[in-house]
Amino acid sequence: MFEKTIKQACDMLHVHNDLTKFEDTIIKGVSIDTRKIEKGNLFVPFKGENVDGHQFVRQAIEKGAGAALWDKNVANPPEDLPVLIVDDPLLALQSLANQYRHELDLKVVGITGSNGKTTTKDMVASLLGTKYKVHKTQGNYNNHIGLPLTILALPEDAEVAVLEMGMSGFGEIELLSEISQPDAAIITNIGESHLQDLGSREGITKAKLEIVQGLKENGLFAYYGDEPLLQEHVKDLTLARIETFGRSEANTIYPVNIEMNNDGSQFETSLYEGETFFLPVLGQHNIHNALAAILIAKEFDVTVEGMKEGLKSLKLTQMRMETSLGKKGEKIINDAYNASPTSVKAAIGLVSELDGVNNKILVLGDMLELGDNEEEFHFEIGRIIDPAQIQHVYTYGRLGELIAKGALERFAAENVHAFQDKKELAAMLEKQTQSGDLVLFKASRGMKLEEVIETLTN
Ligand code: ATP
Ligand code: MG
Repeated sequence: MFEKTIKQACDMLHVHNDLTKFEDTIIKGVSIDTRKIEKGNLFVPFKGENVDGHQFVRQAIEKGAGAALWDKNVANPPEDLPVLIVDDPLLALQSLANQYRHELDLKVVGITGSNGKTTTKDMVASLLGTKYKVHKTQGNYNNHIGLPLTILALPEDAEVAVLEMGMSGFGEIELLSEISQPDAAIITNIGESHLQDLGSREGITKAKLEIVQGLKENGLFAYYGDEPLLQEHVKDLTLARIETFGRSEANTIYPVNIEMNNDGSQFETSLYEGETFFLPVLGQHNIHNALAAILIAKEFDVTVEGMKEGLKSLKLTQMRMETSLGKKGEKIINDAYNASPTSVKAAIGLVSELDGVNNKILVLGDMLELGDNEEEFHFEIGRIIDPAQIQHVYTYGRLGELIAKGALERFAAENVHAFQDKKELAAMLEKQTQSGDLVLFKASRGMKLEEVIETLTN
């Protein structure tokens, strides 16, 4: 964890005030939340829309913080407290993270993409964890604040950091990549998330490709090779080492002899003939994520045995294809963590492929932040659902209703149900589902679809 005296911290930042009287005080770790302050933390205040973190500086120090940053444009810095007055606390946080990254003798793997970042991060960490001391992004701490905090929390003895990099606009991934200077970088896929801000899938592609900006000179860049837009734009890069993963045989690594069942899949790969990998999570897209992880594991000299072990013992961050049993014995797949057209299609595809269950039921909610064509995207999802594979479609939300409309082109009306109220949806599901049914839940985070799952499981 980041640990310095105040004097050292002042040397790392451009600090405007004199802190001689506090210079030997030790700061340990960084926090942006007074409720989670631990002894010695450096508290970083931000000016939010409603509250200004500077109001909480005194409280943070009373609760044990060793020091705090202070924006030079905010009046009345408390002179009795160890506050470091800087041009901008956010930039200072990012700068500290960057400098700390350089001090540590460790490798960094950076992961971006529209979908599958967290999943791939968990996979990479699991495979590398069979050989190294690995530290990974917790939860979804993947933005301009979360990533620096993740770096500053790295233990001194960490050998590899696996960092998720998220974005909603241009320039953000470049910043995260520059801060963390990855030794290897992955783009998992290009989807439609954040179309609103980036205009087109081409825009999204360019924004994701910013991940190579901070990549070490001889670092490995691995990307999803079945995405034509990535292929096209990668041609413009001058990078020493590029590898690809995906289904097609043009990739550096592709899967062979895939067998899927209801608990996951097993497959061999083009790189390690005759070696079978077991993946305990569902879905074709997760095979792609696993291939990315295998490429990275190879880069870091993990043995094939280590790779297999790491995949087999994979533990994913919650709510990504999490399976559980409902009260009636129905199988529930909770993928309600987030949703975009690509990931919803992937999830529908995987439910369609599963067998050995009674009725297959989709519960789909709004996909948010899709921009101008959001209605069309929802309608389109409804249209691709195959009534030969799926028995019932339930939707939730205003946009979700358009999925129902799309589905009605091929489904009988009694098998499609649109809801605007979670309680009504839950009640209907409770009535309709039977033991042996499979129910998939998927929607954007903001829809909180997991509240409906709770009704079925508790
Ligand atoms: P966020 O932007 O919220 O951090 P993320 O990129 O971290 O999302 P995950 O949480 O790993 O993504 O996965 C979210 C959903 O995306 C999964 O539940 C799954 O349905 C889908 N998904 C995962 N990997 C892929 C992939 N390679 N291609 C398409 N869809 C995927
Ligand atoms: Mg994530």
